[in-house]
Amino acid sequence: MLDRQLLETVLSAHGVALADDAFGRLDRFAERLLETNRQFNLTAVTDPAGVTVKHFADSLVLFGFYDFPHGARVLDVGTGAGFPGLALKLFRPDLQLTFLDGTRKKLDFVAGVLASEGLAGETVHLRAEEAGKQPKYREAFDLVTARAVADMAKLAEFALPFVRVGGSFLAMKSEAAEDEVRRAQRAVSLLGGRVERDAVYRLTPDLPRRLTVVRKISQTPTKYPRASAQIAKKPL
Ligand code: SAM
Repeated sequence: MLDRQLLETVLSAHGVALADDAFGRLDRFAERLLETNRQFNLTAVTDPAGVTVKHFADSLVLFGFYDFPHGARVLDVGTGAGFPGLALKLFRPDLQLTFLDGTRKKLDFVAGVLASEGLAGETVHLRAEEAGKQPKYREAFDLVTARAVADMAKLAEFALPFVRVGGSFLAMKSEAAEDEVRRAQRAVSLLGGRVERDAVYRLTPDLPRRLTVVRKISQTPTKYPRASAQIAKKPL
């Protein structure tokens, strides 16, 4: 289903090499994504080139921007159908992935793909602002990823409580998020983070993207994350 040549071309432009076994796993995930998408909505993008670039290459270029240590504990907040988290796991099975989403059906889909590949991975059916209070998850991850989940100030409050001090949060944003990221600097700092990198790049010549890397430099005060209604009404 995936366009292998296209995937390799886009990834190699970002310094990421695709192995045969990883391609097989990713391609089976793509097949299943479209098959399941006929029963319930997982993606609006369904053409092979679109899925290849906008979901798979978009997720996997993270490896070109950030050096994921072997065996790193990674949490994907608002993973949906598994982007970027499931693509990262299928590409690098050594990573210990946890998938969090407020929607059970999407997590069931992710769990089904993991099981069919014989790979481990925890799915957590909670809202981020609830899970972030639980000792099991709080400051328990080396890396947290999120794509298309919320604006940066809210997202920082959802994500940073999960990151251990010294770890990083990778926020995948549209190019247009510059103001959003600037406005969120205060939130990031209140939550114990510091924007380390705010990179704009071209996934393909016509698809500009932004990756904001936030380093966790001190513990998140226990009053965060606040309740959903407060986060929505009064972003930090
Ligand atoms: N990250 C995926 C992607 O890029 O394809 C899914 C993006 S989708 C637009 C947003 C996802 O975030 C949805 O699956 C939604 O259920 C989840 N989500 C939004 N807010 C959340 C929260 N506070 N806690 C947990 N999941 C959340």
